[in-house]
Amino acid sequence: MNVTAKLLSVFQVDKQFRGLRSRLAAAERFLAEQNKVIEQLDAKKASLDAQVRQITATASNFEGEMKRLDARMATIREQMDSAQTNKEYKAFLTEVNTIKAERDRQETSALEHMGKVEDLKKQLDDIAKQRTEREKVQAVAVSDRDQRAAEIKDRLAELQTQREALAKELPKDTLLVFERLVQTRGDEAMAHIEEVDRKRHEYHCGSCMMALPIEAVNGLLVSGRLTRCASCQCILYISDELTKSMREPAGKR
Ligand SMILES: [Zn+2]
Repeated sequence: MNVTAKLLSVFQVDKQFRGLRSRLAAAERFLAEQNKVIEQLDAKKASLDAQVRQITATASNFEGEMKRLDARMATIREQMDSAQTNKEYKAFLTEVNTIKAERDRQETSALEHMGKVEDLKKQLDDIAKQRTEREKVQAVAVSDRDQRAAEIKDRLAELQTQREALAKELPKDTLLVFERLVQTRGDEAMAHIEEVDRKRHEYHCGSCMMALPIEAVNGLLVSGRLTRCASCQCILYISDELTKSMREPAGKR
C-alpha cells in the first residue's frame, strides 16, 4: 500500500468513528437540554417559593395588626358603655371610627397579599406539572443515551485498534499533516479526484472543484505519493474505480 492508500484507510476508519460518535453526541445533547430545562424549572420554583414565604409573612403582619386593632376596639367599646358625658361618648365614637378605617385598610392589604400567594401557588402547581412531564422525557433521553453508548462501545474499540495499527504504518509527519487537516476540514480532509475529460487531461478536486495539473494526477496514479489540492489543501486520492479505468489500455475503453 502506498502512502495515499494508507492515509485513505485511516481517513475511512476515522470517519466511521466520528459518525458513530456523532449519533451518541446527539443523544448526549438532547439529554443535556432536558437537564437544563429541569434546572430552570427548579430555579423558578425556588424563586416562587421565596416569594410565597415573604408575601405570606407580610400578610400575617397585616392580620396581626387587625387583631391588635380588634382588641383596642373592644376596649374602647367597653369604655363607651360607661361614658359619663355625651362629649366623652363622641370622642370614643370618633376613635372607634378611626380604628375601623385603619382595620379596613389592614384587611384590604392582607387580602391582597393572600390573593398574590394564591396566584403564586397556581404557578407552582403549573411548574410541578411541567417538571413531571419533563422528567419523563429526561428518563427516555437517559435510556436512549445509554443504549446508543452500549451499541457503539464495541465497534468504537474495534475501530480504535484498527486505527492504531494503520497509523503505525505511516510516517509521523504525514500523519500530523493529515490530523491537522481533519481538525480543520473534518470529512473534507481528503477528497477524490474527479475526471472531467481524460483526452484533454481535465481533472478536478472532488472537494473544491478546482482544476488539477495532470502531473499531480499521474503522480498519484503511479506512486500514490502525498498530493494536496493547491486550492483547498485537502489530500487527494483516486478512487479504485477510476484507478482501474485509467490503467486499462486505451483500446478497451
Ligand atoms: Zn480542492
